[in-house]
Amino acid sequence: MSSSSNNPQTLKWQAMSRDHHLAPFTDYQQLSDKGPRIIVRADGVYLWDSEGEKILDGMAGLWCVAIGYGRDELADAASKQMKELPFYNTFFNTAHPPVLELAKTIAELTPEGMNHVFFTGSGSEGNDTMLRMVRHYWAIKGQPDKKVIISRINGYHGSTFAGSSLGGMQGMHDQGGVVPGIVHIPQPYWFGEGGDKTPEAFGIWAAEQLEAKILEVGEANVAAFIAEPIQGAGGVIIPPDSYWPKIREILAKYDILFVADEVICGFGRTGEWFGSDYYGNQPDLMTIAKGLTSGYIPMGGLIVSDKVFDVLKTGGDFNHGFTYSGHPVAAAVALENIRILRDEKIIERVREETAPYLQKRLRELADHPLVGEVRGVGMLGAIELVQNKQSRERYVGKGAGMICRGHCFANGLIMRAVGDTMIIAPPLVISKTEIDELIDKARLCLDLTLQDLQK
Ligand SMILES: *Cc1c(COP(=O)(O)O)cnc(C)c1O
Repeated sequence: MSSSSNNPQTLKWQAMSRDHHLAPFTDYQQLSDKGPRIIVRADGVYLWDSEGEKILDGMAGLWCVAIGYGRDELADAASKQMKELPFYNTFFNTAHPPVLELAKTIAELTPEGMNHVFFTGSGSEGNDTMLRMVRHYWAIKGQPDKKVIISRINGYHGSTFAGSSLGGMQGMHDQGGVVPGIVHIPQPYWFGEGGDKTPEAFGIWAAEQLEAKILEVGEANVAAFIAEPIQGAGGVIIPPDSYWPKIREILAKYDILFVADEVICGFGRTGEWFGSDYYGNQPDLMTIAKGLTSGYIPMGGLIVSDKVFDVLKTGGDFNHGFTYSGHPVAAAVALENIRILRDEKIIERVREETAPYLQKRLRELADHPLVGEVRGVGMLGAIELVQNKQSRERYVGKGAGMICRGHCFANGLIMRAVGDTMIIAPPLVISKTEIDELIDKARLCLDLTLQDLQK
């Protein structure tokens, strides 16, 4: 691995990392001791590091590279736009063609009635925008007390102050505190927290926590409920089938807004354009980023329903925006990315062909002695590592997930570990042969992990 490299160029880069670079979500002492792996190029579903190792990227970068690496069309779209109009803002009653084309194109893809887009530079900024917009919405409607946002423990909504507060990660809340007026309810994570309940019963219980929280806070004080259709960073948590129908039933009873954080599920990951389409949910707002540009350039946004927009329109200035809201180069890249998703029928192929194949092959790993559950939807998957398959008991204090991740790293596969849950989210363009390679490597790494745990 790169940490024991003798390659002078790798060592030079690792020294730069140690001396100057502050990486996200990183223990700086640990990183400078070990040195990062340096990724130098990519093509299709593969990465190459500075040691010349080829790696199958089972995480699509960071859930984002939907159309795969190496698509010149996106580079050409960026180059063309940079030469024509590299930047202009969309403040003060101005606009430019790419941002307008993109807003219209997104509205064509979204569920019924979701027709307006506020652009940002990232998913986190999309959620910050959401927080300010929904509070503003209720104030315009003469209900300024409706401020509280209900979110979920172990949800992920980004890393800005509002994003990390909306998210339910204790480790993030502990550093810098949280925005007032955000409360959290349990997640629908049956494997980890379902106890003796059936998945069905647990899903109902988890959904009922939303109603209990609305009643506790008071409907008159609740602005919105935010949730990922499928929790990504929390460990690819697929809710039991009973969960979303029960949530919809509860949302219908109370006058609060529903926000779907589609940053991971959006743009095809479930085999539908949006996770909300997959589950038949009808959000009032949707946060997007990641797959919007396949990660080739940063861009996020907040999609707003007619219902919310009609109120905003009566509220005077919305005093909010980013220098790079609707950046023309990012918009041109997003348009080209969406064109490719559409013209090459990538999402249809995921739904009809490659996702069913991935899910079938993934489930074959359930027979492995280390595996307690395999679950997945579309191009998302999770493998739970356990000591006891029946009781779902973990290997306590062994760091099974990190051991497994290390073996994956050393054997040319990127899989991420969330505690002892191994997760994958490969590029949507992954082929059946590449899926076979992913599964073979995953099984090898499970074997190696089990050997280590039994030592
Ligand atoms: C990644 C992510 C975000 C944050 O997006 P950034 O572009 O990193 O700010 C928000 N919500 C979800 C569900 C995400 O996965």
